[in-house]
Amino acid sequence: MSKASCNQDWEAVIGLEVHNQLATDSKLFCGCSVAYGSEPNHHTCPVCLALPGSLPVLNRRAVENAIRAALATHCTVNERSVFARKNYFYPDLPKGYQISQFEEPLATGGWVEIPTDGESGEGEARRIRLTRIHMEEDAGKSIHDAADVTRVDLNRTGVPLIEIVSEPDLRSPEEAGAYLRALREILRYVEVSDADLEKGQFRCDANVSVRRRGESELGTRTELKNLNSFRFVEDAVRAEIERQIEVIEEGGEIRQATLRYDPDRGRIHVMRLKEDAHDYRYFPDPDLIPLAIEAEAVRAARESLPELPEDKRARFQSEYGLSAYDAGQLTASRGLADFFEAAARAHGAPKSVANWVQRDVLAALKEREVELEATAITPEALSMLVKMVDDGRVTARNARPLVAVLVETGGDPEALVQERGLEAVSDTGLLESVADEVIAANPKAVDGFRGGDPKVLNFLMGQVMKKTQGKADPGQVRELLARKLGG
Ligand code: ADP
Ligand code: MG
Ligand code: ZN
Repeated sequence: MSKASCNQDWEAVIGLEVHNQLATDSKLFCGCSVAYGSEPNHHTCPVCLALPGSLPVLNRRAVENAIRAALATHCTVNERSVFARKNYFYPDLPKGYQISQFEEPLATGGWVEIPTDGESGEGEARRIRLTRIHMEEDAGKSIHDAADVTRVDLNRTGVPLIEIVSEPDLRSPEEAGAYLRALREILRYVEVSDADLEKGQFRCDANVSVRRRGESELGTRTELKNLNSFRFVEDAVRAEIERQIEVIEEGGEIRQATLRYDPDRGRIHVMRLKEDAHDYRYFPDPDLIPLAIEAEAVRAARESLPELPEDKRARFQSEYGLSAYDAGQLTASRGLADFFEAAARAHGAPKSVANWVQRDVLAALKEREVELEATAITPEALSMLVKMVDDGRVTARNARPLVAVLVETGGDPEALVQERGLEAVSDTGLLESVADEVIAANPKAVDGFRGGDPKVLNFLMGQVMKKTQGKADPGQVRELLARKLGG
């Protein structure tokens, strides 16, 4: 079972369908709140409960957000799209149909760029094509409790979603993960969605097939439903690729099916086979006129978009001389990118600032599991601290713990360094006497050095650094010791 998911003989083919909740206050066709975590069935009305005689009214804000999402992923926004009824029965679907778009979706074409060969991140970006983006309403939630009782919560019924369908362009579980991260980043950049996975605002179905390398025809696919974390997507896709290869190598055949992944056991279960696939009997919703989007509205929306992550990455590379990998890390969110740019501008040494952001700021955030925006550190404070290091006024070693202080409580780096007595020792006279002391106290080490063991120098350096509480410049100390010992 530990077979590699892609090997010399087999190629994986993956296409993803993402359901993403649009950031609105109210539902897609009624005024009910979309607030998360309220008492069950508290955000409902005759429209989303499908009471007779109620009529849907389209939420303008949801349409605007959907257009922004489409433009940010390079799609063509169609002048005309049509809401259709997708008919099926389920307890959490009171209308007996879901309003979606089918034959005429909001947007078509487009692409999302992913970095290739995730390892180094230095590779060229690769375009994953999008088939379409359409608008639809969410269904309610069935809650299966321990006592084998199923309860229905309709708060989520009618919440606005877009479904983003990719072409089968992805070739590995890692690429699927990279695509989802890139897509989520874009949606958050252009503020059409918080895309919070834990709140179910960004959910994914993965379609998977395999074929022998060199073959151009697609294999039979299966569909993994409702994966709600990036890790689960990658794990589930990997497990499914392995399963399919094994079935075919053992002379079997892949049957088209809808699958469910159990993350606890790492196992895949069949929900239904294609033979019992639904016929949704789609037809245009007679209660809603076709959605007309004028070219002018699209133009205005395009103009209002902020710089996209891919453009920012390219600019960070050319403007600040950063590597593709560094630019990728620093543009992971709009907040982080803005923070870096402000600090880099304040200090005037972008590479040095990039280093400190990537190494120390990100580490401090990770350790505390917080978002940058929720902390006390300002770009001005970071740039001041980095400048003090670059000017030799405090050693990097002593400055690093101060990043965590800035993250937690903020403050003025200049004052922090002074309060804690961390100013670098630049007094050569003092350093000389400390070096002399260390040499006198460690005759064995000195002999070792003279006997040709270069490692001993590091030990002696460590002693000097200790005596100066890390406040001496390591380069200066090394030079000083080498001179004294050599002479
Ligand atoms: P459905 O609506 O039944 O889910 P679609 O034709 O809309 O079917 O396809 C859904 C997704 O499946 C798309 O993301 C597409 O790229 C992907 N897909 C289609 N054929 C294959 C295949 N042979 N292998 C992997 N993915 C595929
Ligand atoms: Mg599907
Ligand atoms: Zn309602």
